[in-house]
Amino acid sequence: MQHQDAGGGARLTIDLEAIRANYRALAAVVAPAPVGAVIKADAYGLGAARVAPSLAEAGCRTFFVAMLDEALALQPLLPADARLYVLNGLAPGTEAECAAAGIAPVLNSLAQVRRWQDVVAQRREPVAAALQIDTGMSRLGLSAGEADVAAREMAGAAGMGIDLVMSHLACADDPADPSNQRQLEAFRRLSALFPNARLSLANSGGALLDARFHFALVRAGIALYGAPPISAAGVTIALTVQLSAPIIQVRTIAAGDGLGYGLTGGADHERQVAILGIGYADGWPRQLGNTGAAYHRRVRLPIVGRVSMDSLAVDVTMLAEEVLCEGLHLELIGPNQSLDQVARDAGTIPYEILTRLGRRFSRTWVN
Ligand SMILES: *Cc1c(COP(=O)(O)O)cnc(C)c1O
Repeated sequence: MQHQDAGGGARLTIDLEAIRANYRALAAVVAPAPVGAVIKADAYGLGAARVAPSLAEAGCRTFFVAMLDEALALQPLLPADARLYVLNGLAPGTEAECAAAGIAPVLNSLAQVRRWQDVVAQRREPVAAALQIDTGMSRLGLSAGEADVAAREMAGAAGMGIDLVMSHLACADDPADPSNQRQLEAFRRLSALFPNARLSLANSGGALLDARFHFALVRAGIALYGAPPISAAGVTIALTVQLSAPIIQVRTIAAGDGLGYGLTGGADHERQVAILGIGYADGWPRQLGNTGAAYHRRVRLPIVGRVSMDSLAVDVTMLAEEVLCEGLHLELIGPNQSLDQVARDAGTIPYEILTRLGRRFSRTWVN
């Protein structure tokens, strides 16, 4: 069995149809509210330049990035009627560029509201922007008092073009968390100050809460990319990524031999070990040393020893000799080992696993 790759490294396969299917599944759940796609951080590491146009094909017209540069890079790839919002706000000095490009900042502070007002006042036509209100997460957005001030100031400013008022849920991944209800109530109260804007509160987790959280737009990220933030919500979220890494050496380790940095991977019996060409420099978490696994078909192959920068070792004693060869790819994320499982084993969340996936992988987009 021979698997060849130009670079000889790990392979990441991204299923664009699965991402579109997740989009449609979420859209069905939150209808009539539309789903906007959060494509910040290169679409959570999956390639925004491929993912965003693919979602546009499926009907998505609202997109969220974190930085203006991300928006500028993606704008030419999207239909003319698509809207891009910049979640991290209006960076000082970028006001004119942002307005000229027709990219909508999410105004997070009074200072940003006022700087935007100045730019808009110099233009003939209104330019779209969103306003974020903080409803309890204490991250980005105007406080209740500031929202009041903004509403009064904006009433006097024609053509401000605030077309979306939004807030963000801190605990939407836990439907039972009482803060969801508190944030909902605060959002209702404060958003009433801006009666002409569309409202948006829910991320992926919020989309799977009840319909009161959906308002006029849901902002979905992780659920599009295949990690169900809640498993029991009746939505089937499809797997979108597969990651495999090649065996770069096979060796027999004698009982009592150490293995890897710190020699933490030793055992008191003889073993067959395969060294895989993926390490923490590729975003494969070092925390998976002596805990995570790779798979060959259904067979779980435990990671032994610490994860190195460019390689790691798995115990392949249970595989038949004739299967084991250099170049054979073993599954790290796929049908046998979900993204959620990897995240749990590494003591982190699927978001972090995805956004750290390495630049050295050969990436293939299918469908
Ligand atoms: C990242 C982000 C989202 C998307 O969150 P998911 O949990 O990935 O769906 C939505 N809204 C805001 C403000 C965000 O920063």
